Amino acid sequence: MPASKSRKQSPPVDVLIIGAGIMGTSAAWELARHGVQCLVLERSVPGAEASSAAAGILGAQAEAHAPGPMAELCLQSRARYAKFAATLGKETRIDVGYRECGVLRVGFERAALSKLVQSSAWQSKQRLSVEKLASRALAALEPALSPKLAGGVRFAGDSRIDPKALLRALHIAALARGARFQSGAFVRRVALEDGRAVGVVLDDGSELRARNVVVAAGSWTTLIDGIGVPAGRVIPARGQIVEVELPTPPLSHVVFGPGAYLVPRDDGRVLIGSTLEFVGYEREVTAGAVRDLLLHATALVPALERAALRATWSNFRPYTKDELPLLGATQIPGLFLSTGHYRNGILLAPISAEIVRTAVLGQRAPLPLEAFSPGRDFLGAHA
Ligand SMILES: Cc1cc2nc3c(=O)[nH]c(=O)nc-3n(C[C@H](O)[C@H](O)[C@H](O)COP(=O)(O)OP(=O)(O)OC[C@H]3O[C@@H](n4cnc5c(N)ncnc54)[C@H](O)[C@@H]3O)c2cc1C
Repeated sequence: MPASKSRKQSPPVDVLIIGAGIMGTSAAWELARHGVQCLVLERSVPGAEASSAAAGILGAQAEAHAPGPMAELCLQSRARYAKFAATLGKETRIDVGYRECGVLRVGFERAALSKLVQSSAWQSKQRLSVEKLASRALAALEPALSPKLAGGVRFAGDSRIDPKALLRALHIAALARGARFQSGAFVRRVALEDGRAVGVVLDDGSELRARNVVVAAGSWTTLIDGIGVPAGRVIPARGQIVEVELPTPPLSHVVFGPGAYLVPRDDGRVLIGSTLEFVGYEREVTAGAVRDLLLHATALVPALERAALRATWSNFRPYTKDELPLLGATQIPGLFLSTGHYRNGILLAPISAEIVRTAVLGQRAPLPLEAFSPGRDFLGAHA
């Protein structure tokens, strides 16, 4: 029996979005605010995966290793964050924990410190704020840090956010603007007619019609058939996190040290991250990773030895071999991608949502997108 005979067809929506992580929910909010009708299909519940597991570092400078399109994308997204968070706060009354706290990179040896300074020299040339701190200045800024540190580099323009609160706010704000969400909707494939995306087919065989389809399925992107992206182009890179808590926050900055980073929350919790592992979709939190993260964290902030252990978790960063996201229109008319954001998906939400909206509506992109083209040539990428 032809599959189409058994399928119920719905009237087409303007945009179907696959995945309700940060990419799907932020695109839905952005599109809905511009009057576009959208339906977000999520196999689990909104924010079920990487986006709620993230630490929430908005490290456009601290995590940038070289100038180029990715650094520019990150900086442009960071520049939008204050307004993004404030607007969400106004529309939902949720504090998404956006704090312009600055980020420190610190080292125990002089050689490590020189390396940190050298690796950020290009940023100083671009007049971005980069401040070298000797051990005394570092101690004055963050007294809980180990006195054994040789110093650090401060990226005052970087910030942090609470990803769980952000996801909740984006979901609520998108709903309030008229976007619809369907949880438990597992998309098997994108439906194509005459080479154009016309909707999706769910795992129960039902078909949902749409004028445009946006794939925002994170690490599971290439498991969806019909999107023209080869398997292996986006793969899961597991990260584990340990959450501990002190009665008061020991740090004001986010701190990157050897082997671990520390992200303070206002209530005394500190997130200790993270591992980078290519182990497929295995969700385990491992004893070895927890041990290593705690060792590195307590070396950085000795007071964390007294902290209460609150939680551990892991999830999957959507990794691409060239470490750049896949953003915007594909070669298939009506099909768009917002995926592969790897370590920076939370940071990149505002600009990615804008890129999706401009691509869907045929408007001018906020910046050149060649480097992020879903159809780009991945030299040496997994076949
Ligand atoms: C431990 C860790 C720490 C991190 N820390 C930071 C950080 O500090 N700062 C930062 O900027 N980034 C950070 N990241 C990266 C960031 O979390 C990701 O880049 C971002 O969350 C990716 O968002 P996404 O919406 O693409 O993916 P996800 O949040 O994984 O969402 C994808 C959604 O698609 C759904 N889905 C998948 N397949 C289907 C299907 N077939 N049908 C229906 N639904 C489907 C999934 O259920 C999921 O809800 C971190 C990641 C990890 C794992």
